[in-house]
Amino acid sequence: MTAPTWALAIHGGAGTILRAKMTPEKEAAYHEALRRVLDAGQAVLRDGGLAVDAVTAAVVVLEDEPLFNAGRGAVFTSAGEIEMDAAVMDGRNRQAGAVAGIFGPKNPVHVARLVMDSPQVMMAGAAAVELARKAGLPIRDRDYFFTEARWNALQETLKLREAGAAETDPARRHGTVGAVALDLSGNLAAATSTGGMTAKAPGRIGDTPVIGAGTFADNATCAVSATGHGEIFIRWTAGAEIAARIRHAGQTLEDAATVVVMQDLMPNDGSGGVIAVDRAGNIAMPFNCEGMYRGMVRQGHEAQTFIYR
Ligand code: ASP
Repeated sequence: MTAPTWALAIHGGAGTILRAKMTPEKEAAYHEALRRVLDAGQAVLRDGGLAVDAVTAAVVVLEDEPLFNAGRGAVFTSAGEIEMDAAVMDGRNRQAGAVAGIFGPKNPVHVARLVMDSPQVMMAGAAAVELARKAGLPIRDRDYFFTEARWNALQETLKLREAGAAETDPARRHGTVGAVALDLSGNLAAATSTGGMTAKAPGRIGDTPVIGAGTFADNATCAVSATGHGEIFIRWTAGAEIAARIRHAGQTLEDAATVVVMQDLMPNDGSGGVIAVDRAGNIAMPFNCEGMYRGMVRQGHEAQTFIYR
């Protein structure tokens, strides 16, 4: 038996601004935001709190920060609307809650928590928003969620589409936020939240709320939160595949996560990455694109944040 320890990893999406377009000011703002997220999550873990509460706390800060594509600052559908997905999973008992295509609740991850504590696992649209309303969760209007940067990204993407050109800028294409944690009692949890992909079809649902794809946690193996081209993460069941490799093939967390991101997803147009933690507190954060906003902190170690390799 090793001594109890805690660990936390977070991401702000694999759709990073290309290095060539990054400015020192923007870069500093991202690092500062990621540090605030780590602070919120580790405050829970340090005090002996539950992993599921730590990942929720971290994702709330990510959702509130307009720099990231979740909650405030979420991207727009091709129709100019905002439709958000979120999920949370508790590795203690595989309880899970997810919401898809919602608009209104300030923090979609809190609505996912409500669903987790209900007989359902996944709820979509108006009924999920009603659940949030009934529980008294804060609701916001379009002005709150709207950011000019995301609106401009939608216009650019629609223009490219009209011209039949391919989308080449990952910052315009996607982004998502998430957290994974191990608590002092040995529990794992994951939470993920997103506006999805810029100019997605109305009603389109990505991998984020799909348990076993963009979000997964089981105390027996690992907790995973993904970001990237959601359709491919769903088809390759990214989160569940990482856990299966640990469970059935005895792979390390690092090997399992790297194989899935580099050998399953990458050759199949699955650009993106994952953050993952196992019950020993090992953290893996592989990605197959230019960058992924990310950070980690473990008991007894300094917090670290990264954008590129
Ligand atoms: N995975 C998200 C989705 O497909 C987007 C992203 O992470 O960039 O909705």
